[in-house]
Amino acid sequence: MRIDILTLFPEMFAGLLSCSIMGRARERGLVDIRLHDIRDYTHDKHHVVDDYPYGGGAGMVLKPEPIFEAVELVGKELGLSAVPTILLTPQGRLFNQEIARELAGYQHLILICGHYEGVDERVAEHLASDEISIGDYVLSGGEVAAMAVVDCVVRLLPGVLGSEVSLDEDSHIEGLLEYPQYTRPPMYRGLAAPSILLSGDHAGIARWRRQQSLLRTAKRRPDLIEKVVLSQEDKKLLSEAFEIKS
Ligand code: SAM
Repeated sequence: MRIDILTLFPEMFAGLLSCSIMGRARERGLVDIRLHDIRDYTHDKHHVVDDYPYGGGAGMVLKPEPIFEAVELVGKELGLSAVPTILLTPQGRLFNQEIARELAGYQHLILICGHYEGVDERVAEHLASDEISIGDYVLSGGEVAAMAVVDCVVRLLPGVLGSEVSLDEDSHIEGLLEYPQYTRPPMYRGLAAPSILLSGDHAGIARWRRQQSLLRTAKRRPDLIEKVVLSQEDKKLLSEAFEIKS
């Protein structure tokens, strides 16, 4: 997969792109991430990328010309007339695991990071194919949002996490939150890890984990549990868990 990111601050991505899972995925050629400084697509002496908003008001708005040019040049380089192009904006559809899976299915993606008061609306209307928000709050720029999207998408690409890591039980993959995790020592400051996890009883562990996952989701995110189709066994585990808790 190739991801092209248009930003005023390419240097912000250095950490994300070089460390951990992302760094290894890039080294192994599983993802090709290219950063484009929007200023490089201007033609004036001062590389102006923003201007005052028409109609007045505070702040500056990113101009459309360099953004259109950058997107068109990426398309040309790829030999494609259209590349899925996402504008990061607090006004977009709310990013989630399902959208991440959808994006991970593309061969190419372009992400546009806004800044200041935002981006000239013609970019959203006539250039971007999608608008994504990472939450109902306002960031200073699209860079942090782009990093969240890229990180989430890249870990879904085949081979990135390796066969030893299963995504299936991660929170949000199947609509539930994951069960609690413990590691050594078995007793820490008088706090014991659940004995079932040390028992070697694999069926018992699987049952406990499923029950914890259901209970946690029901208590913390009732909005999620309402959307999940629960089996008879799940319903039994859940009511049993609530009985134990109360
Ligand atoms: N004035 C804009 C508004 O009210 O919708 C907000 C502009 S914000 C300060 C600057 C840039 O940060 C946006 O153009 C967008 O690229 C990015 N941004 C801010 N919050 C975001 C969010 N929740 N999700 C995605 N991008 C965001």
